[in-house]
Parts: sequence; C-alpha cells; structure tokens
Amino acid sequence: MIENKKPSVLGLKRSFGFGDRLGLATPGHMAAVAGTPYLPIFAQQSIRELHRTTRQPEEVMKAAVMAVEKGNWTKPWGADADHLQTREDVLRMAQAGFTFFTIDPSAHVNNNADSMPEETLSDTYQQLVTDNKLTDSDLVNRYMGQSFEMGNGFTISFDNLNQLLRAIVKYGAALVHTKAMYQWITEACGPNQFEVEMSVDETETPTSPPEHLFVGLELKRMGVKVVSLAPRFVGDFEKGIDYKGAIFEFEEQYRQHIAIAKYCGPYKLSIHSGSDKFSIYPIIGRLSGELLHVKTAGTSYLEALRVICRTDKKLFREIIEFCRDRFEIDKRTYHVSAELTAVPEQLEDNDLENWYLENEAGRQILHVTFGSVLRGGSTCAGANFKELILENLTKYDQLYLEVLRQHLGKHIRLLLSEVD
Ligand SMILES: [Zn+2]
Repeated sequence: MIENKKPSVLGLKRSFGFGDRLGLATPGHMAAVAGTPYLPIFAQQSIRELHRTTRQPEEVMKAAVMAVEKGNWTKPWGADADHLQTREDVLRMAQAGFTFFTIDPSAHVNNNADSMPEETLSDTYQQLVTDNKLTDSDLVNRYMGQSFEMGNGFTISFDNLNQLLRAIVKYGAALVHTKAMYQWITEACGPNQFEVEMSVDETETPTSPPEHLFVGLELKRMGVKVVSLAPRFVGDFEKGIDYKGAIFEFEEQYRQHIAIAKYCGPYKLSIHSGSDKFSIYPIIGRLSGELLHVKTAGTSYLEALRVICRTDKKLFREIIEFCRDRFEIDKRTYHVSAELTAVPEQLEDNDLENWYLENEAGRQILHVTFGSVLRGGSTCAGANFKELILENLTKYDQLYLEVLRQHLGKHIRLLLSEVD
C-alpha cells in the first residue's frame, strides 16, 4: 500500500488541481477524480486566497489530510502552494508541508514590452543589462540567429532582433526572480521532495510560442527544474465560465506550446483558471497526453452555493443580495466581463439556480465576491455567512459531494473524450 496520508510529488503524470476554499470539498473532489488517470492535488491554495478566506496554510492542509484518511484514497496526491511571489510566501507554505510550489514572477514581467517602440525596446534592454537584471549579460548574442527543431518539422528561429528583444524585456527580470525563488524553495524543503511550477498566466498579453521557448531554454540553462509551466494562453480564460476566443487559434498555439514543453523539459503545461473551459478540454486533453496539469478553485465554491440554493432559498437570497452590492468593487481585481444588469434583480425561487449558477454573468457575480462573503460577510440580521454556509454543507454533505462529482467529473470526462 502506498503511504499517502501526506501529500507527495506527482511528477510527469497528468494531474488535476482542486482548490477548496471552505475545507469541505475534498470528498467530492475524490469522487470526481476516482477511477480516472488523473492524479489529484487536494490541497491547493494561493497566498491571495488565504488572505481572502482568512485561512492558514496548516488549516488547508489539515482539511485535505483528514478527508483523504476518511475517504480511503489510496493513490498519491499533491499539495500546491499556488502563486508564490516572495521568500516569505515560500517559507510559510513549506512549513505547512506543501509539496508543489508555484512560482509567480508576474510582478517582474514587463507587460509593456509588446507595445514598445523599437528604440525604447533596445534602451530598456540596455538598462536591464546595466542593472544586472538578466540571467546573462549577453542574451542577445546567445539567441540571435539560433534555430530550434521541435520535431514534426516544426522549427522556431530567433531571427528577428526586435522579437527577441521583446521576449527578453518581457520575461528577463522574471527569470531572475524565478531562479531566486527556486533557490529559496530548495532551501526551505531541505531533504523533503518537492516539485515546482512557473506561472506567468496572469500577465496582460499572451505568451507567444517563441517567448515560451526563450523562457523554457533559460530555465533549463539556469538549472531551474520545473514540473509544469503556465503560459498566458491566447484568448480569454475568465473566471468561472467557458473559454472565450477562436478555438482553432488556441489549438494551433497549444500544439506549439506542447512541443516546446517536450523540448525544454519535458514538463507539463499548466492551465490556470482551468475550471469550466468545456469547449477546449477535448483539444487540451488530446494534445497534452500525460503532460497536463489543470487548476480549478472557485468552481467548487460555486457548487457549494448551488447546495445552498437548493436547500435554503432564504440564505441564498441574502448571499446574492450581498454579492450584488459588492460586485462593482470586488470585480476590479479579477478577469471577468459580467455586468450586474445582465441578471434581473427580481427572480422566482425556481429561477435562481439557473440565473446564478448556469448563466455566465450570474456565476461571475458569485465568483468574484467570495472573499467578501467568507471574510466577515453577514445576513441582514448579522449572522455570519461563512458559518451558515459551513453548517449547511455539513448538513447536506451528500448533496455537496454529488454536485462536485458531477461538475468536476464533467471536466475530467471532457479532457479524456478525445484521448485514445
Ligand atoms: Zn493562476
């Protein structure tokens, strides 16, 4: 029998990350992933979410460990310390026993690179060299004129100086920070096994295949061993709803990203904001094979609200009223396009689930306000939402398990739908 009371590393096996903001979702996550070839990450928490839910890393870990023990889960499972930006973040999560560390260097990505005029581009590059903020003082000569054969007749060449400068200006300083983070993780984990992801998914502009290749080659050259990498893919990955964009273009670029991931690693491609992207799962699953990690988080919280909607309309109405009040403020830090006016204010009981949990705007209204709801949100009478929600989910635990099994099971089924 495998020792699986504690999280472990999952390596290059296809994997699925289940964020759980309330600490009661793991039984449903286990039911969704059981019997599939995906290995699960049952504890997955970003620093930002810890703050929004006022939870501690130890608490997140304990919820997953207890559910694994109780649920007879016998395969390995992982624990993802998501979107880490500083040394302090690393130490905090390593101490709690996390095994998968997601380095997020996006604060060091230069989002203006894509629109910089040529002179500014070369000035900015020179400045980075002068300030010693690059992985090598002569990256231009290292890459200019080089061609890389990715297999299947697909080659990427760095033969355009401006394109190369853009890649260096955009990701150069982020690579330096990634290397520093990698060393801090290595030190913090000591003798314990760990795996690392690099994520640049939250940048403003997409990561082009040549940019991905540049990043992948530099990671390799610096000895930063990643198990997965999350580029910012083309199109829109908005929270809680399906993919927006041209699917053929996504497929074309995804094919190149996978070839690059095989060439530079191999490592897995990691799909962040991965929930509810039903229209592209078959493509992602087919092209990735084992080299895939999918991250979901908010979708399990929405399924929790579905349980409330079905079992306590009065509480659900109080929550949506609160969320509608908070929406304009809370949406600012999220990638969503919903408008409050897209969901009618007056609704019959029977229409609530459809408008708030099936409709895109309704889902986003509930999605972006989760922090406000869970961090001190309360009913008109002053009762704490988080306590009421936890009470309800404990009472209706079988229903919660069932809606999670169905909803996340659908994700995995579609990922496997075109796999031979
Ligand atoms: Zn992300």
